[in-house]
Amino acid sequence: MIRKFLRRVFSKSAPSHAPALIPVERHHVRRESISPAARNTVSRLQEHGHKAYVVGGAVRDVLAGIEPKDFDVATDATPEQVRGIFRRSRIIGRRFRIVHVMSGGETIEVSTFRAGNDVESEKDEHGRVLRDNVFGNLEEDAARRDFTINALYYNPTDETITDYHHGFADLKQKTLRMIGDPRRRYREDPVRMLRAVRMAAKLGLAIDPAARAPIREMADLLENVPAARLFDEMLKLLLSGHAVECLRQLREEGLHHGLLPLLDVIMEQPMGERFVWLSLASTDARVRDGKPASPGFLFATLLWHEVLADWEQRKQRGESSMPALHAAMDEVLDIQAEKLVITRRIAADIKEIWTLQPRFENRAGRRPLRLIEQPRFKAGLDFLLLRAESGEAPQELADWWLAFLGADTGQRLAMLSPEKKPARRRRRRKPGGEAVDAAGVKETE
Ligand code: ATP
Ligand code: MG
Repeated sequence: MIRKFLRRVFSKSAPSHAPALIPVERHHVRRESISPAARNTVSRLQEHGHKAYVVGGAVRDVLAGIEPKDFDVATDATPEQVRGIFRRSRIIGRRFRIVHVMSGGETIEVSTFRAGNDVESEKDEHGRVLRDNVFGNLEEDAARRDFTINALYYNPTDETITDYHHGFADLKQKTLRMIGDPRRRYREDPVRMLRAVRMAAKLGLAIDPAARAPIREMADLLENVPAARLFDEMLKLLLSGHAVECLRQLREEGLHHGLLPLLDVIMEQPMGERFVWLSLASTDARVRDGKPASPGFLFATLLWHEVLADWEQRKQRGESSMPALHAAMDEVLDIQAEKLVITRRIAADIKEIWTLQPRFENRAGRRPLRLIEQPRFKAGLDFLLLRAESGEAPQELADWWLAFLGADTGQRLAMLSPEKKPARRRRRRKPGGEAVDAAGVKETE
C-alpha cells in the first residue's frame, strides 16, 4: 500500500493529463509510410484484443521526413502472449525481454509497455537503473521513454498519433526535450546524454536548455556505464550518417574529454585531425547514400595516427619495422579495450587494414599482383586514398594504385617495375635464415 502510494507521489508516470490524440489531417502520416511487416504485426495484435502501436524512432523519423531504419512496436501483450500469436517470433532479452517478430525479410521488435524508472527500480550507487522490467500501461510506457519526440504512438489502423508529452509540437519546433527531470533521467541512464547529442545532430534539433545544461557536469557518470553498451552507442553515433555533426556537438557539450580514450584521440590529436575528419565525412557520405560502412574501417581510421606515433617511436628505438607495427597495433587497441569493447571480429578487421598499409609502398616485382588479390584490398586502398587526401601518404602512391586497380591484366604487367631494391632496402639475412628486406617484410608475402 505504502509503496504504491509512494510510487504515485514520486513517479513521473502518475496520471497527470490525458494524451493528445492527433488525427491524420494534422500529422499527415499515412499508414503506407509504415512497413507492411510492422502494420501486419500491429493489426494481428489488435485482432487478438491487445493495444498495439508503432512507436519510437520510426514515428519520429517519418514525421521528420526521414526514412526509418527499423520499426518498433509497443503493446500491452506480454512477451509470452506475443510469442503465442506469431509463429515466426522469438523472445530475446538483453536489458529487458522483447520479442522479435519475423515477417517477410523484416524483423519487428515488439516490446511490452513498461513502467518507468521509479522509486522501486534497482539502482547502482550513482542512481543508474540496473533493471527496469516492470510492465505498465501505455501512459507509463510513454513516461519511461527518453525524449518527447521518441514517445509518439502511431496506430496504423486509424492513423492517429497518441502523444502524452507534446512530442509532436516539439518536433515541429525542432526542440529535443527530455521527458521528466533531465538530471534524474541522466542519472538513471547516462547514455541518454549521448543519445541527446546524436538525436539532435541527426534531426537538426536544438537541445532544450534544461536538458542541455546538466550534460557538462554529469558527463563523468558515463564512466559507470558498461563498456559493451558504450561501444554500441558509439557505433550508432559514428555510423549515424551524421558523425561529423555529432562529434562537433559532443565537443561543444564537453562530452569528449576523459570519457572515452577514442574520443580524446579523435578530438585532441593535432597530427591526425585532418585525416580523422576526412574519414568521418566520407563515412557520413556513404551512410547517407545507403552504402555499407564498416565499423572496422572507421575505427581503423580513427586510431591510425595513434598507431603511427607508437610505431615511429618503436622504430626509433631500433625495433624492426613489421614487428614494431604489430606491437603498436596491439598497444593502441589495448588502450581502447579498457573502455570500449571492440569485438574480436572488428579488431581483426582493423588490423588487416593497418597491416596492408606498408605493403602498398612496396611495389617492386610482382608484389602488387599478389596484394590486389587480398580479400581486404579494397578497404585497404580506400584507407590509403584517405591518407593521401589528408597529406600523410604520397598522392602519387594512391593514384598509382587506383590506376593499377582499374587496369586490365596486360596494362597491370606493364605497370610493374623490375625487382630492384633501393640501396636502403638491401637484403640481409636473418639469423634464422629467412630472407627479409630492410623494412622487415617477408619475401613470401
Ligand atoms: P534510432 O533507431 O534511429 O537510433 P530510436 O529512437 O529508435 O533511434 P532506439 O535505441 O531504437 O532508438 O530506441 C527505441 C525507442 O526506445 C526510443 O525511441 C525511445 O523511445 C526508447 N529508448 C531507447 N533508449 C532509451 C533510453 N536510454 N532511455 C529511455 N528510452 C529509451
Ligand atoms: Mg530504433
